Amino acid sequence: MVGNCGDSTAPVPPGGGGGFGRIGGGAAAQKRSLAEHMRFLESRGMSANLAWLVGHNTLRSIAGIKGPDYTPEQYQVMERELRKALDDGALGMSSGLEFEPGRACRPEELYQLTGVLKEYDAIYTSHIRNRDAGVLEALEEFLHCIRLNGIRGEVSHMNIRHRTHAPDHAFDRCIAMIQQARDDGFDVLTDMTPLNYGIGQMAGILPQWLTGMPPEQLGSALHDPQVRARLRSDCDRYWRFIAAGEWDRVRMQNNRAFPEINGMTFPEISRLWNKDPWDCYFDILAAVAPDLDSVVLVSYLFTDEHLKETISHPLYMLVVDGYSTDIEGPAGQATGFHYIGMAWFLTHHVRELHTLRLEEAVRKMTSMPAQHFGLSGRGLVHEGYFADLCVFAYDKLETPFDLDRPRQYTRGMDYVFVNGCLVLDGGVHLHTQPGRHLRRGQ
Ligand SMILES: [Zn+2]
Repeated sequence: MVGNCGDSTAPVPPGGGGGFGRIGGGAAAQKRSLAEHMRFLESRGMSANLAWLVGHNTLRSIAGIKGPDYTPEQYQVMERELRKALDDGALGMSSGLEFEPGRACRPEELYQLTGVLKEYDAIYTSHIRNRDAGVLEALEEFLHCIRLNGIRGEVSHMNIRHRTHAPDHAFDRCIAMIQQARDDGFDVLTDMTPLNYGIGQMAGILPQWLTGMPPEQLGSALHDPQVRARLRSDCDRYWRFIAAGEWDRVRMQNNRAFPEINGMTFPEISRLWNKDPWDCYFDILAAVAPDLDSVVLVSYLFTDEHLKETISHPLYMLVVDGYSTDIEGPAGQATGFHYIGMAWFLTHHVRELHTLRLEEAVRKMTSMPAQHFGLSGRGLVHEGYFADLCVFAYDKLETPFDLDRPRQYTRGMDYVFVNGCLVLDGGVHLHTQPGRHLRRGQ
């Protein structure tokens, strides 16, 4: 499933994507519809299946919308591009409301756009606006889209971040809100990632008075000592533990300006550069400006207890959240999540911790999402279904996870079939390319 959290690599606006979609945009940095992009990928060949969401931030980028306001013509561009992508086979629309340019939008924009999804029986997925002090209001905004338009919905990776001012019993209260929506007849679910760590945008903590500046001013503004002084007391958002000074939780994942620091924590960068961590932070952003959204961090986000309560909960599916599986180029600093993430649910949470039963974990990563996202003929081992199968000896499965050596595959994943065609044979990739696009309604 690609195109989550508001950013899809297609449709591509002139000059490349926005947000996460900009990463690795070289080959696709031209105006291209989703159908054209699908054909391009098919011409390259795919080993895995792909299912698409169209990103709300991508739609805003195409329409040239930055702040909360837009003209009627700009709204028409967003809606027209959304309809085109749905006609091309996208399963639905995703939003990423902690990221630019979507975070500036008013709720009414989302109420209106998600109304289009109803006509197509398409799903709305959302990386909601807040997951700490404002998590209840953020979830309410999402659920209002669902109730108002009578659509299916997915709250992407609904977790409460560790020590970030969430209200008391925030997790239980969120679950109660989703359960109430289900009891009222709306098909809403959520999902969780496998590890204590997650990825996020470095620019996510920046205020809009900065990110809204003309692109050519961003670099010099970020070098300005007065701007830096103001930012230090105005970055308490998104990953709020950064503002709280918990720098040891924050690790540089990818940046093009200083590749030598990729993989280092901010205390390590601070020692290397002999500078305060805030100045390191701003130096990096200034060096990549105006492409602020392209820089990704990895951080310790979730406690063991929170992983357990989410992963085992009946409303949660099991996913891995990443931005690229590319192993070369600027997006190639892959995290271990891509390599061992799904199998980690089985080795760590099932086999080691007994957080949930094996059968339940497999259901939460196969038939449950297939049904929720409307992928017919998939997700079950059943006569007449597509043979998308992983064959492995459960006891022998190994998932080496090391933040410093991320590119290690799961060991013991012996055979993988995609659409009935063998792709992994005895753990060896055959470079067969049976993957296809899973279009809505097919
Ligand atoms: Zn997200």
